[in-house]
Amino acid sequence: MTTLEEIKGIGSKSLNALKKIGITSPYQLLTYYPFRYEVMQRSDITTLEQNDKIIMDGVVATIPSLFHFHKKLDQMRFKMETSYSIMNVIIYNRGFLKSKLKPGTIISVVGKYDKKHNTIVASELEFNSLSDIPRIDPIYHATYAISSKQLRNYINSVLSLEVEDYIPTYLKEKYHFLEKNESIKEVHQPSTVNKLKQARLRLKYEELFLFMGKMAYLKQNKTGNVGLKRTIDEKQLEIFLNSLPFSLTIDQKRAVDAIKEDLENEKRMNRLVQGDVGSGKTVVAMISMYMNYLSGYQSALMAPTEILAIQHYENAKKLFEPFGIQVGLLTGKLKAKEKRTIRAGMEDGSISVMIGTHALFTDDLIYHNLGLVITDEQHRFGVNQRASLKNKGITPDILYMSATPIPRTYALTLYGDMDVSNIKTMPNGRKPVITLLRKESEIRDVLERMHEELKQHHQIYVIAPLIEESEKINLENVYALETKMNQAFGKICKIGVLHGKMTGEEKEKIMESFQKNEISILISTTVIEVGVDVKNATMMVIFDSFRFGLSALHQLRGRVGRGSLQSYCILISNQEKERLKILTETTDGFKISEEDFLLRGSGDLFGVKQSGDMVFALADLKKDYKILLQAKEDSEIFLKSEDYNKLEYKKIKEKIETIDNLS
Ligand code: ADP
Ligand code: MG
Repeated sequence: MTTLEEIKGIGSKSLNALKKIGITSPYQLLTYYPFRYEVMQRSDITTLEQNDKIIMDGVVATIPSLFHFHKKLDQMRFKMETSYSIMNVIIYNRGFLKSKLKPGTIISVVGKYDKKHNTIVASELEFNSLSDIPRIDPIYHATYAISSKQLRNYINSVLSLEVEDYIPTYLKEKYHFLEKNESIKEVHQPSTVNKLKQARLRLKYEELFLFMGKMAYLKQNKTGNVGLKRTIDEKQLEIFLNSLPFSLTIDQKRAVDAIKEDLENEKRMNRLVQGDVGSGKTVVAMISMYMNYLSGYQSALMAPTEILAIQHYENAKKLFEPFGIQVGLLTGKLKAKEKRTIRAGMEDGSISVMIGTHALFTDDLIYHNLGLVITDEQHRFGVNQRASLKNKGITPDILYMSATPIPRTYALTLYGDMDVSNIKTMPNGRKPVITLLRKESEIRDVLERMHEELKQHHQIYVIAPLIEESEKINLENVYALETKMNQAFGKICKIGVLHGKMTGEEKEKIMESFQKNEISILISTTVIEVGVDVKNATMMVIFDSFRFGLSALHQLRGRVGRGSLQSYCILISNQEKERLKILTETTDGFKISEEDFLLRGSGDLFGVKQSGDMVFALADLKKDYKILLQAKEDSEIFLKSEDYNKLEYKKIKEKIETIDNLS
């Protein structure tokens, strides 16, 4: 069977419905696994109410009487003796079963309990007692166009399909795994709870084995991606390090050393620098670009927003221009003429350091000799994108910077193919931000605290409630807050507004006046979420904070407490106090992300859904951590062993090397 059309009962309508849920082949149908099961158990009649669902077994007690209303509608009635009492059974359109329902026959029925009339209006009838066959019914995610039952029928008709098994024999033996076909069948038509468990375990393991195998494969750099080999002048590097306004923390030093080694050896760098907001990743990026410059190559630093790109650009100019290094800025908002000049500099190599947004990697751009690509905050290149970063035959090294601490489980899968440097030590003199939780009715207290900060000429961020669905409401919220803040503080300070609908130029202007302390209160949607650095800002007030994930709030809070001044974060919310309380108790980003992960799952970790990379059919990273660890160990050993290249495992090797749904 190669197409869905060949399945009995599937017409164009079902085809469309299936397509909507991502099923376009019999194999996809086969691996459309139930999301839960219903275990059929005899109902406890004493707890049932009128019209409740009932499952009952017993013995037919009377000869059924059959009525034909018309050709397409019949009704059968009989009495059934159960362990409780004798009950009436009514069932429609099963007249053809009459001859089989002799008194004494053991049956079980599922239906609606008409308590008043001691009657079961049955929708299903089976010839067995429940104690003989514990029935476990698979329930599928259905849509209005296709029911769980329909899905069950279609799936049942493809169960005999042969599928490839991707677990090496020696591992299957070690864990006493079921065969793959048997497992898939069991998952769709469970026989016992225990066997179903075994089947699911085996399928989850296979998913994780392949996935972690791919990670190991990428990490070992077997992809034929040879990087650049360079030598970096130690003396010059030292002069640069001495020119910095501070000395590096231990973790910054370690990260720089690791990056230096990556750059110098021929293996292509694929490294993540992970560190909480304010831990000082930017300078690590700058030093990396300087090292890359020393070895004669261009660098590109990509920021997620225009504001951040500009901030990095200003930073880089300060650091690099004294060394005669040219820095260029490229964002989508640049004028055509400016763009042309920049592009010329990129192409002829006169610009050594390029900073910008994703505009840095539009197709038609040509770098003279791009040797290092750095992305700030969560911008991961997919495997294929990484390949396409090659420019003029050069394969640049890649460095990722992330301020989102990732829970352990998730890190193994998301970053399994990378080397990781953690920056845990904060630069000296930082005081942890004090976080307070307030209800809307306590706004007076909040305003008083704001007033205290303003009196000391400190600055404040105010985050307006964020409604994901409506840009319009967001704007209204921002302006409503502006009015309120003006009423409270308009006489003593200036108030600015920043939101997503503004042009790059407008945003830039506002940020600049905030940076220069011409504006004391900045009201904003979350456009300031990442990276912005204003040391004199000592307070952040977040309205409707329940709308954010803990990690997002933690990131936002990282905008304050960036200098040596004591800073505050006030979370205003009338809801979800328990969850938000975590933030008042800790500033450890890893701990917070772990909580977030447990509460909201991985999809929400970044506030946005991640691309399809984490989508396993069965495995659940929250629950299956142990399986994940085992699969990781096994796949790493497998890849290093001779087995990996053996003919019998050719299919597994191919699968590992070609799975492409990793981002
Ligand atoms: P993030 O990791 O969030 O990107 P930044 O790189 O923006 O953090 O650093 C936050 C602030 O700390 C910046 O103002 C930066 O100049 C300062 N900083 C970074 N490293 C050090 C250090 N070793 N000593 C003192 N200040 C530092
Ligand atoms: Mg940063």
